[in-house]
Amino acid sequence: VLEIATTRDELRAILGAEAAGYVPTMGALHQGHISLIERAVRENARTVVSLFVNPKQFGDPADLVRYPRDRERDFAAISASGATVIFSPRELEIYPPGFETTIEVTSLSRRWEGAARPGHFRGVATVVTLLLSLVRPARAYFGEKDFQQLRVIQRLHADLGLPGSIVPCPTVRDSDGLALSSRNARLSALARRQAVAIPRALFTMRDLADSGEREIAPLIAAGSQEVAKRDLLTLDYLTVVDPSTLEPIPTVVPGARALIAVSVEGLRLIDNLALLEPLPAHLSG
Ligand code: AMP
Repeated sequence: VLEIATTRDELRAILGAEAAGYVPTMGALHQGHISLIERAVRENARTVVSLFVNPKQFGDPADLVRYPRDRERDFAAISASGATVIFSPRELEIYPPGFETTIEVTSLSRRWEGAARPGHFRGVATVVTLLLSLVRPARAYFGEKDFQQLRVIQRLHADLGLPGSIVPCPTVRDSDGLALSSRNARLSALARRQAVAIPRALFTMRDLADSGEREIAPLIAAGSQEVAKRDLLTLDYLTVVDPSTLEPIPTVVPGARALIAVSVEGLRLIDNLALLEPLPAHLSG
């Protein structure tokens, strides 16, 4: 049976002391979210999915209003995936009058999405800290699709000594390689076809790294060219970073991460890819 909580107290009453898996989402669920939920269901006796469009992480009020919402469809998809608890709070349940606490992960939030969307990661860090403290999951699942977000969350989880573990999950892609995102549905048919350049840029860079190229400049040049070929796309950034600091690196090393952001028809699409397989833990550090 599916249990639905809309208040913090209902959620705590349903969960009791039992450990659970947890997948925080903003709703408008697609197969990327479902893959996280299905993994949580496999690895935990019970799984909680939250649906909360967090106003604090939207800089642009119009973007918040436009964000797709479809509770009935989301409830059905969650139920079909095997999760048994939904937490679907109103804004005032999460941010009651007088709420004034902010969590900020400083260095990791500075570049890339943080630079393009001032305050975005403060909003993410604040709500994720609050939700993890409320749900107290044994394992919480996050997509690598949002790589910088994943790093910010891993950092605050470690720094604040929050319980349980953070489980990174691989990016789910459409058949042409485009990472699934609730924003994709808002693209025109032409823009959607051109958006294939985003994963192509990343996979081109990975192929070059696999064939021995260790300099960053030729990788970025090849990746940028994929985007430049499509007239509706504008490259916001394409970079290769150290996967733990997210700082640009001079040469490709195992685990190096390519990050890309592209603007198309007023939307921003982001993606990322590991360029060389990271070293196994016993060989690194
Ligand atoms: P959102 O609802 O956009 O906040 O995303 C909720 C969770 O789903 C986050 O951990 C995202 O990283 C993850 N997610 C979103 N898209 C994908 C995808 N294509 N593949 C894997 N995970 C994803």
